[in-house]
Amino acid sequence: MITENLQKIKDAIPDHVTLVAVSKTKPIADLQEAYDAGQRIFGENKIQEMVDKYDILPKDIKWHMIGHLQSNKVKYMAHFVDLIHGVDKFKTLKEINKQAKKHDRIINCLLQAKIAEEDTKFGLSFEDIEAILVSEEFASLKNIKVVGFMGMATFTDNNSQLEKEFASLKHFFDKQSAKNPALEILSMGMSGDYPLAIKKGSTMVRVGSSIFGSRNYN
Ligand SMILES: *Cc1c(COP(=O)(O)O)cnc(C)c1O
Repeated sequence: MITENLQKIKDAIPDHVTLVAVSKTKPIADLQEAYDAGQRIFGENKIQEMVDKYDILPKDIKWHMIGHLQSNKVKYMAHFVDLIHGVDKFKTLKEINKQAKKHDRIINCLLQAKIAEEDTKFGLSFEDIEAILVSEEFASLKNIKVVGFMGMATFTDNNSQLEKEFASLKHFFDKQSAKNPALEILSMGMSGDYPLAIKKGSTMVRVGSSIFGSRNYN
């Protein structure tokens, strides 16, 4: 089913939208099937699991870290991670910069904005993001590149609520990217809400269960 699911989603999303196949908790065989169907970008939310999969799978895969980051684990993925979505502390950005430097790399990052009403979702306020982007200390970090923003909407089937949250991040993104051309990526949308997120301006969707089936965390 993975091949068929992927094809359906790829057919449904516009060309300017990048599909991240979220493979967390899924076995290597499932990722290999998606790879054989042409998928090259995979998202994981645990660093150790991503490292284990990176070691086994083909090296032309681009690995995206989509989970909440623990600074002390950044070093394990610094040699290969392609994009880190969930940066929500300046301290984490500094740690990514430090580890990237050791490998003579520039690591692309997205700042995670808090757009959901729930308390459980991580993220920076728009004010905090703006303060980071204009700070001198940020300008001194030469081994990271902030290439956009990521947001997670409230877990709800209330479409007008979702629209409001996606639209607020899109609006902020447009304002910031007009000033800073490095900001090119707006990562919003998961299995339950990616069509709406794309309508509201997402350029990158993170889709897991609609490709690989529901997850079993046991
Ligand atoms: C798990 C996860 C996804 C994918 O969720 P699905 O509902 O399975 O598509 C997307 N983004 C983040 C940050 C996730 O942790």
